[in-house]
Amino acid sequence: MRIIQRIVTSVLPRKWAASLEAESREWIIACPCGYSNSIWEMGGIRWKAKGNRTFLMMCRQCRERTSHTLSRRPSDEVV
Ligand SMILES: [Zn+2]
Repeated sequence: MRIIQRIVTSVLPRKWAASLEAESREWIIACPCGYSNSIWEMGGIRWKAKGNRTFLMMCRQCRERTSHTLSRRPSDEVV
């Protein structure tokens, strides 16, 4: 767990912290090359948020700076 996640989850009530982690795991960052990872796995958090976003970042797989899409994939949905 990254430092930001540790700080946030330690100040929140346990129930909220669990919700924050579950939601953050549903937010997936995807590169056009096919690489995808959850916000949580990448050390970030996203909670009580809506809508998809796009941003430039370095891909861990193809090592290119590409436009990644961030979208929510509910865990109860089989992808
Ligand atoms: Zn890539």
